[in-house]
Amino acid sequence: MSFNNVNLFNLLENTQIGVVIHNETGAVEYANPAATSLLNLSVEELKDKSTDVETWTFIDRQNRRIPYDELPVARVLSTGKPVDNQILGTIDKTTEKTAWFSVNAYPERYNADGSTPPFVVVYFSNITAKISDFSYKDIVQNSQDMILVTEAENINAPLSPKIIYANEALCKHTEYAFEELIGETPRIFQGTLTDKASTDRIRQALIEQRPCTETLLNYTKTGTPFWVQMNIFPLTNDFGEVTHFAAVQRNISEIKFQSEQLDNRNSELKRIKKDLENLVHERTSELRDANLKLEKLAYFDALTNIPNRRAFIDAFSKSLMFAKRNNHEVLVGIADVDHFKSINDNLGHGFGDEVLTIVAQTMQRFFRAEDAIGRIGGEEFAFCIVLLSQVSPYQILDRLRQKVSKLHHTQPRLKGHKITVSIGAVQTKELQHKSPKQLLTYADKALYKAKNNGRNTVECIQECAKLSKVSASEPLDDESRQAL
Ligand code: GH3
Ligand code: MG
Ligand code: MG
Repeated sequence: MSFNNVNLFNLLENTQIGVVIHNETGAVEYANPAATSLLNLSVEELKDKSTDVETWTFIDRQNRRIPYDELPVARVLSTGKPVDNQILGTIDKTTEKTAWFSVNAYPERYNADGSTPPFVVVYFSNITAKISDFSYKDIVQNSQDMILVTEAENINAPLSPKIIYANEALCKHTEYAFEELIGETPRIFQGTLTDKASTDRIRQALIEQRPCTETLLNYTKTGTPFWVQMNIFPLTNDFGEVTHFAAVQRNISEIKFQSEQLDNRNSELKRIKKDLENLVHERTSELRDANLKLEKLAYFDALTNIPNRRAFIDAFSKSLMFAKRNNHEVLVGIADVDHFKSINDNLGHGFGDEVLTIVAQTMQRFFRAEDAIGRIGGEEFAFCIVLLSQVSPYQILDRLRQKVSKLHHTQPRLKGHKITVSIGAVQTKELQHKSPKQLLTYADKALYKAKNNGRNTVECIQECAKLSKVSASEPLDDESRQAL
């Protein structure tokens, strides 16, 4: 087919490019269907407009109205030269939005000397879709985040994936020039401490063409390590094929450092807390021990380790209440070491202490757990027994007296030094209106009597009325201890 056979008019009528032909006055002589459709004007409207230049309201990219003289037709008419790709905007009368055109114009001369251009051919296409208010590329290029684009081919090849784009932030931060990075692989940012598990995960995501996010240690050209949080995602072409990968990376070294500091601080705090807990635990058990000691000090006599006066009075009061409630008799008494002053004076205070301890232990063994006993003075020991069976108090008291008087046989420390006690006691059932103190006063009276009777003796007041004597020299049969 010869080119001459091509009907160029048909081409004009069918092309998607708008073509408008102006005469030498600028008036429209012809507009093809694409032109009327792109400008949304009929041929007549176009012709009307072209004769009244004031009605043309084209704007430039800065939204300034372009004067008629600067429009492509006028420029061609005044200069006789073509105009290439002038961008013009016009308000679309139906959508009221700006439509953008890339406009070319050239003079069509038919006279050989080319003096006057009888026609100006203007052709244009709508580039509104390509022109937006901002450039995505500018965003990427100027982003503070580091952005890298690689090809999506041959992920596993040694030099793949190939870097085809790196934004300014990436170049600046990694200290590589843009040209140095193009054609390289992102592996140049990795170093000895880069976590292999992370890079393996990235590779796997690239192979599977899916997005992934990783935190990675990268290195600059001069070897300075820095932490990045990396977001990688596939880019597709119009056919949905993955052609590239984009990686948006943010330097998180500062955050990482701060979080490490926080972690360190947290573990330090945990350690301090643990130490404090241990200390509190230690102090608590020390406190418990101290309390036990204090309790012991408060209730037990430090020398003899038997209840002190206060503890005795406590236990004594409880025994009295029990006896009163059950109508039992009580036997309340005081055993006082005889001539203890001369023991101290002749054998030393230390020996005196030992005597007191041995007498106290003897009493503790002699009485039962439910009896109240205690050291109520220097060498005075008190007791209170609830008499549950018909037993002779004299015999109980005298057995105690005898037991002490034989200690120098049984206790090696007392060998050769006979220790005796005088015991004064009161046996009574009439406990109404009787306080522990009153009963002890009765016992003390009896003790006084026992001392007067020559010591190593037992005196017992019965029913708080009369005093009965039992001489120490009078030997008494042992009552059964079980009776106690
Ligand atoms: P009596 O036969 O009349 O009871 O005479 P006594 O010497 O035993 O009685 P006195 O009250 O004259 O003396 C008691 C002595 O006990 C005086 C005091 O120094 C001594 N004493 C008091 N408490 C202790 C003590 O804890 N240890 C020692 N070693 N002596 C003490
Ligand atoms: Mg005394
Ligand atoms: Mg005494």
